[in-house]
Amino acid sequence: MNYLALRRQTLTRNLRKDGGPDAALVTAPPNVTYLTGFTGEATHFVVTPKAAVVVTDPRYEAQVLDECPEVGRDGGIDLHVRPHTRTTLEASAEVLTKSGAKAVAVEAGRLTVAEFELLKGLAPKCTFVPVNDLVESQRAVKDQSEIQYIRDAVQVAERGFRMFAATIRETDTEKDMADALDNWLRRAGAKGMAFPPMVAVGDRGARPHLVPSDRPLSEGSKLLVDWGVDTAVGYKSDMTRTLRSPFGSAPTRRNKFERVGYELERVYEVVLAAQNAALAVIRDGVRARDVDTAARKVIEAAGYGEFFTHGLGHGIGLEVHEAPRVRQNSDDVLAAGMVITVEPGVYIPGEGDGPGWGGVRIEDDVLVTRDGCTLLTSLSRDLSVAGGGS
Ligand code: ZN
Ligand code: ZN
Repeated sequence: MNYLALRRQTLTRNLRKDGGPDAALVTAPPNVTYLTGFTGEATHFVVTPKAAVVVTDPRYEAQVLDECPEVGRDGGIDLHVRPHTRTTLEASAEVLTKSGAKAVAVEAGRLTVAEFELLKGLAPKCTFVPVNDLVESQRAVKDQSEIQYIRDAVQVAERGFRMFAATIRETDTEKDMADALDNWLRRAGAKGMAFPPMVAVGDRGARPHLVPSDRPLSEGSKLLVDWGVDTAVGYKSDMTRTLRSPFGSAPTRRNKFERVGYELERVYEVVLAAQNAALAVIRDGVRARDVDTAARKVIEAAGYGEFFTHGLGHGIGLEVHEAPRVRQNSDDVLAAGMVITVEPGVYIPGEGDGPGWGGVRIEDDVLVTRDGCTLLTSLSRDLSVAGGGS
C-alpha cells in the first residue's frame, strides 16, 4: 500500500471540502516528511490545483530522490530545485503563482508573521488562508507503516537502554550517564536522540525536566532516566524509568543530596498503579482527559495529588509531542491508531534550601485500539531494572 499517496489524498480531500482552498503550502519539516517521506530541512511541499511539488535546493536534491520514490514519476510528485540565489519561500511562491492557485492554505502554527507577510507580497495573485493543524490533525491517527516505525523506535530505545543500565558505574555523573546513554542508543540503531536524554540522581528527579549535572550516582539512592530516539525515517520514541541505585545506597540512607522521609517503594507503587489505571481505560472513543483523570485519582487517593504536576501524556510520532494531548484541559478524544505516552509522575521537592526527596515517573508508549490499547514498550517496569537488565 502506498501510505504516502493516501496521506496526500486525505489532505487534498480535507482541504477542498466545502469549497475550501484549492492549494496548500506545507513548510514544517515533520509535515513535509509525513506527506513525502523526505526527512531533511529547508524543503517545502506544495499542493497546487493540478499537481504536487517538492520545492528544495541543490543541497537536498539527491536526498529527496533517495527518500521519495514518487518524486519525478508520472502521477507522483514534481520536483522544483531552486537556484541558490533564491529562498525556498520565493520558489514556493513562484510555483503557486504559475499553477494559477487562487486560495492557498498555509500552516497557521508554523509560519512566522514575517514569512506570512513576505508570501503575500511574493504571490499577490494568491489568497493565503491560515489553517490550524492543517497536517497535524491528520497525523494524530497513525497508519500501519507509522505504527511499525514507532515500534522500531521503541525497540532501539530499549536495546540501548539495556546496555546503558548494565554498564553504569557508581562514579558516573548525570552528564556521564546521559552521554553513555546517547552513545548506546546510537549503537543500537538510533539516527539521533528524540531529545537530549535526561538523567537525574537523587532529589534532582524532583524536577520533571532538567539538564544533566556533575552529580555522581553515588550521591543518590535513585535515578530517573527519560530518553527517546529518532530513527532514519523520522519517527520517535519516548520513555522514562525510575530505578533504585544498584550501588547499595539504601533508600533510608541519609546522604548529602537526598532527604529521606518518603519510601521509594511506596511512591513507585502508587505511580505504577496510576499508570495501570490509565492503561485500563484507554480505548477508542474515550476522552483523553478521562484517561488523565483515571491516573490522577490513584495518585490523589494515595495523598500525592499535589505532586503530580503535569499532564498524563501526549501523542508521539514524527515529533516527540504531537496530537492528541492527554491532560485535564484536553478536548481530544482517543481514536484507534493514535499512539500516546502514558507518564504519571510524583515529584517531591525539598523544603527551603535543604535537600529534596526526588521524583518517580514511569513512561511508556501505547497504541490505542478499538477495544483497549497495546503497549509498544516491553522494558520491565521493575524498580530494580538497572544493573541486572531485563
Ligand atoms: Zn519522556
Ligand atoms: Zn513524554
